[in-house]
Amino acid sequence: MSGAEPLTLGVMGGGQLGRMFVHAAQSMGYFTAVLDPDANSPAGLVSHRHIQTAYTDPEGLKQLAACSAAITTEFENVPAPALRELAKQRPVAPGAEAVAIAQDRLAEKAHFGQCGVACAPYAAIESADQLEAASLQNLLPGILKTARMGYDGKGQVRVKDVQALRQAWQDLKQVPCVLEKMLPLALECSVIVARGRDGQMVNFPVQRNLHRDGILAVTEVYEGHLPDALQTQAIAAARAIANGLNYVGVLCVEFFVLQDGSMVVNEMAPRPHNSGHYTLDACDQSQFDLQVRTLAGLPLTQPRQHSAAIMLNLLGDVWFDGQSKMRTPDWAAVLALPGTHLHLYGKTQARKARKMGHLNVTGASISEVRQVALKAAAILGIEAF
Ligand code: ATP
Ligand code: MG
Repeated sequence: MSGAEPLTLGVMGGGQLGRMFVHAAQSMGYFTAVLDPDANSPAGLVSHRHIQTAYTDPEGLKQLAACSAAITTEFENVPAPALRELAKQRPVAPGAEAVAIAQDRLAEKAHFGQCGVACAPYAAIESADQLEAASLQNLLPGILKTARMGYDGKGQVRVKDVQALRQAWQDLKQVPCVLEKMLPLALECSVIVARGRDGQMVNFPVQRNLHRDGILAVTEVYEGHLPDALQTQAIAAARAIANGLNYVGVLCVEFFVLQDGSMVVNEMAPRPHNSGHYTLDACDQSQFDLQVRTLAGLPLTQPRQHSAAIMLNLLGDVWFDGQSKMRTPDWAAVLALPGTHLHLYGKTQARKARKMGHLNVTGASISEVRQVALKAAAILGIEAF
């Protein structure tokens, strides 16, 4: 930094991930700029500057580049051309190429293959011919996923036979899709790595994740939560995937562990990830701290987890009593439990399945953490896990 005026770090997107990035950047003395069209975006509300334009608006992008020393992104579907435009003027991390690959399930799977990491058996469905050919393969029952723009299980249909597959592709408006074989999952896990411009890389421990209805519900990380060999394999795969992209920034890679003990990669997110939110309270550096460091070109040191942790995702459902009656969750009862850390994203409207916040529970041992997390879940009306 030069003089008294702090550098500004910019972020494309104003969601909760951007908000937590802004918090981390500000705690290190940076100013922040957020580009998001929504006047009430979670990150825009807490940033020094909020440029309120469309993500592709040339004027907005010009303003962001003018005030930012470097720019990152916080949502997966940020238009890659906008990142390319920004990169003409400022360092942008992650780069448009890596983001573009992560945005397209076909390109993503091809990249995994190039890195020597296996994914679920799949076929591209981009034409009626391919659909009929795919149906001959051993991929059913399977999941038809749109190649682009999917998240939280959206743009996915489970299909048990050819008939259902044809119907599902019709329903998805025949956009390019991937048909994946439905695998017998034993568990799901993810790894978050951070890689600097110089290629230096660090990683968090492997997270064990529970999804409900295609949305992350619970993340658990503690000593012995997964076999060592599995963790080693997942970390090596995530690092290979980041290296193969020449990636700069924070990257999350999600894996399936199958009932026979083997592991395949599911997908990657070119940004901090919901499954890494426990790092805010259970590690000596959070995933957002590392995002700041990679963006600002600061050194990376291997983060250390100091507490066993369980994260409960707080979806809008928690604000509903039974079917439709709105309520304010009993935060006081939750916060009366030891080791609870409440994070709310500043969203004023609760909708079912909307990510409103998360609750981290930390402690010296997993047994006490689990006890508290189960009590908190019961208070909030979250199903036990
Ligand atoms: P997000 O980006 O929010 O993680 P997404 O919409 O990209 O989600 P996926 O990660 O592809 O969706 O799938 C969501 C969930 O559906 C997975 O976490 C897993 O529980 C289940 N699932 C997806 N693909 C398969 C598969 N091939 N076999 C078995 N289960 C699967
Ligand atoms: Mg996923």
